[in-house]
Amino acid sequence: MIIGQIKNGIVIDHISAGKGMYIYNVLGLDKLDCTVAMIKNADSTKMGKKDIIKIGEVIDLDFDLLGFIDPGITVNMIENGRLAKRERLTLPERVSGIIRCKNPRCITSVEPELKQEFRLSDSEKRIYRCIYCEHAAQIENI
Ligand code: ZN
Repeated sequence: MIIGQIKNGIVIDHISAGKGMYIYNVLGLDKLDCTVAMIKNADSTKMGKKDIIKIGEVIDLDFDLLGFIDPGITVNMIENGRLAKRERLTLPERVSGIIRCKNPRCITSVEPELKQEFRLSDSEKRIYRCIYCEHAAQIENI
């Protein structure tokens, strides 16, 4: 499959197979005017199958959000047809405004204008805890 070389842009690689479309939607890539390619189920020696997103423009990416959704992602910045920078994402220590606390007695349920904020408490099990009430949120099937 030939997608065409990107001169300036971003290649989001090593996306877990099946999450590409979700990330496409979360990042609002449908609103971009530039070339965007979503490749599903590409062969990967490391992962078996993976998804890849190519964006023909340098846009601001929320690395915390991406790392939260899929910590195995690699983000490649392409400048003048060359790899300028490669970022390997990890689970962010803190996330805000991405998940909501499900504890009905949490202060954020009573005061919805409070910012939802979670901190990483177990990176292996991908468990985050609400900073207000310690309620756990496990990220499995986002
Ligand atoms: Zn809470």
